[in-house]
Amino acid sequence: MAKVYTIASGKGGTGKTTTTINLGTSLAQMGHRTTVLDADLGMANLGLLLGLEEEPVTLHEVLSGDQRIKNAVYEGPEGLQVVPAGLTLEGFQKADPEKLQDALSYIIDNTEYLLIDAPAGLSKDSVIPLAVADEVLLVVNPELSSMADGLKTRVMTDKVGSDVGGIVLTRAGSAGDDLDVSRVEDLLEAEVLVSVPEDAEVRRSASYKKPVVLHSPNSPASQAYKKLAHKLTDEE
Ligand code: ADP
Ligand code: MG
Repeated sequence: MAKVYTIASGKGGTGKTTTTINLGTSLAQMGHRTTVLDADLGMANLGLLLGLEEEPVTLHEVLSGDQRIKNAVYEGPEGLQVVPAGLTLEGFQKADPEKLQDALSYIIDNTEYLLIDAPAGLSKDSVIPLAVADEVLLVVNPELSSMADGLKTRVMTDKVGSDVGGIVLTRAGSAGDDLDVSRVEDLLEAEVLVSVPEDAEVRRSASYKKPVVLHSPNSPASQAYKKLAHKLTDEE
């Protein structure tokens, strides 16, 4: 049975997809059978960032009822299993997020860790990934507006009966007037598991369609994501 982490935040652009890819690759590198799944059905880009953009079967076809999820699993770096979502508007319109929970059972039986890259916002397609999680990881930036959005996701997570596993503070140090860790923890009532610094290597590695933990393994963001993987598996 997989442990399911949903990587969520109130707003877009906080670093959810980056976190999903790099945490997933780090867990795979440690020898854990790991699957990452793109539940951002409207603005899918997990597959794109891993060089999987022309796959015939994606989560869209699974959620429209046309395909089985095992046909939408592809091999990524380090043996990471990847379930991309499609890139077309038509595919998005046909996909029914209510089918996600049933579709996941095959993955849950066949992997050790499942990381779900959730969409921003609080609509049905973002709430369902919160509901299916064993633990939700809140991805927030150390600024006040991000706290307000993160708090809504936190409250929604409580509402659907899931647990918040902790906070991934990303893009830290980019503005120079960051909220400090203890303030973030007080505001969101959860522990900051790791602080991922702003790191130009993240964007650079994305242009090569490689996770930063592989493209630039010693960069500050890579080190932070590896630390997070160790923390979640209790392997220090
Ligand atoms: P989301 O999935 O939450 O919308 P992304 O992971 O796509 O966010 O990240 C949004 C943008 O920020 C991307 O261009 C990404 O390369 C960049 N980014 C994410 N994390 C970092 C970081 N630690 N340092 C610098 N840029 C980052
Ligand atoms: Mg994203």
